Amino acid sequence: MINFDYQRASSAKAAVDAKAKSPSSQFIAGGTNLVDLMKRGVTAPEKIIDINGLPLKQITADAKGITIGALVTNSEVAEHPLIKTKYPLLAQAINAGASAQLRNMATVGGNMMQRTRCSYFYDTTMPCNKREPGTGCAAIGGQNRMHAIFGTSDKCIAVHPSDMCVALVALDAAVHITGPKGDRKILFSDFHRLPGDTPELDNNLQKGELITAVHIPANTFNKFHYLKIRDRSSYAFALLSAAVALEISDGNISNAKLAMGGVAHKPWRLTAVEKFLIGKPANKETYEAAANIAMEGATTFGKNNFKIKTGKAAVMEALQQASQKIG
Ligand code: SF4
Repeated sequence: MINFDYQRASSAKAAVDAKAKSPSSQFIAGGTNLVDLMKRGVTAPEKIIDINGLPLKQITADAKGITIGALVTNSEVAEHPLIKTKYPLLAQAINAGASAQLRNMATVGGNMMQRTRCSYFYDTTMPCNKREPGTGCAAIGGQNRMHAIFGTSDKCIAVHPSDMCVALVALDAAVHITGPKGDRKILFSDFHRLPGDTPELDNNLQKGELITAVHIPANTFNKFHYLKIRDRSSYAFALLSAAVALEISDGNISNAKLAMGGVAHKPWRLTAVEKFLIGKPANKETYEAAANIAMEGATTFGKNNFKIKTGKAAVMEALQQASQKIG
């Protein structure tokens, strides 16, 4: 790790101003990913701006939905009574991620900003367009078992590692942001980006912007399930995951939201599947057809060929599990 300056910010404006003065600086909250990246030499900010003193630690709710401050920890979100009762999909997804110790430190904003766990990205002796643009992608033709099957480019096939973000995309969340040009709001599904020709960019934040909160609109879903497939039963990133929220009445699906994790550079919304499901009977035949639609357009890279068959099974299982229980 190289030397860096440290500054504590006391307001969102102070944090944004500090970043504007030092473009290579980075915000730090829980530090559960950034510190690893710094230790391994993957990133070397000249300054760390500590935002833990900012007033972004509240969870507030009204008839329109729930707003979660960017500095609320993952544990606090998953354990919040309103999240557990009204947005259980989010609680399930968060509890599927990392370890209890990490969830106690990791924040909502930090979870969104975490970087891919592609092993080549963390190995500074290997080519990686995300870490060092123009050097190539060692995962294409290399060890790509964990890698993407949707939205890839010839520059990068990495996946976003979050579980929480998959649920937030499915729940139509929005991201509140502040920055040098003021406040703005974007859909969660537009926050992360596909790699294209600039895989070094993980998301659509503009220079100097800071996440302040996430808002989830109220909904009428009565069936939820987050399914995660991983190499061991705890503390492992998803090979694949599926987030399902359904509204089922009288045996028919009146509303559906779905997203997958472990398949793309961003949480992957299954809009074609959602359209297909609405108005259909909630049964095995419907779910099997939906799972087939979910995998349309997938491209594999050798070691991750299994993701098409497993992805279909994951969507099918998540739909069935959701149908059988509330929450
Ligand atoms: Fe780097 Fe992306 Fe290729 Fe991994 S998949 S080596 S992160 S460019």
